[in-house]
Amino acid sequence: MQLIDAKKTDVNREAHNMLLAAVPRADYEALIVAGEVVELKLKDILHEPDDAARHVYFPLSGIISLLTVLEDGSAVEIATVGSEGMADFAAYLGMDSPARWLVQVPGKSLRVEAKEVRKIAEKSEELRAVMHNYMLAMFILVSQTAACNRRHPVEERCARWLLMTHDRVGSNYFPMTHEFLADMLGVRRPSVSIAMGMLSRAGFTQYKRGKVQVLDRLGLEAAACECYRVLAKQFKERFPASV
Ligand SMILES: [Zn+2]
Repeated sequence: MQLIDAKKTDVNREAHNMLLAAVPRADYEALIVAGEVVELKLKDILHEPDDAARHVYFPLSGIISLLTVLEDGSAVEIATVGSEGMADFAAYLGMDSPARWLVQVPGKSLRVEAKEVRKIAEKSEELRAVMHNYMLAMFILVSQTAACNRRHPVEERCARWLLMTHDRVGSNYFPMTHEFLADMLGVRRPSVSIAMGMLSRAGFTQYKRGKVQVLDRLGLEAAACECYRVLAKQFKERFPASV
């Protein structure tokens, strides 16, 4: 992780982070003043299970994965956080979390000390309401993903994951390996290769040298399970920009 020399005024709330865009302007400005912009590199680990989480991250671009780590060292993705949210609410609450936070797509993030976020929230009912709303949205995301992983076919889950990543990175290209996606979905790598092959033959995506290109967004939406629509609606409706 690298601290970058970015003017904080370059952080454009409407363009960059849906959560920051939904809080009152005074709270937004207080968060910007208290924080700093950092550049997150691929596979940077921002938090290990049970470490004290000192910072809250509001991604401006890129994606952070929240992973559950099992005793054998394997890790499965439970949620992703991009420019629609923050990583994560355990830090905001001042509590330890059993999650690993891993940078899945490089990008920039506003990073604010968790105690500073709490201090600003203590004075603002509106900011607390946005945080509570986000926690509920994340609970719904994790619940829906748990149901999805039990019931829906791997190719539909792959399509859901690609769509959610596409929304969060705001680009038709993003880095991803089959091995990484297999870890994220908690399935074996050959299953991911078969599913990605199906999406590619249908003309929805192309995969080359560790990068996915989305070619047909509507086709990919049609190939995904219902979970994508349910989750996209949750975040859109909960966080209309306040400005
Ligand atoms: Zn599903």
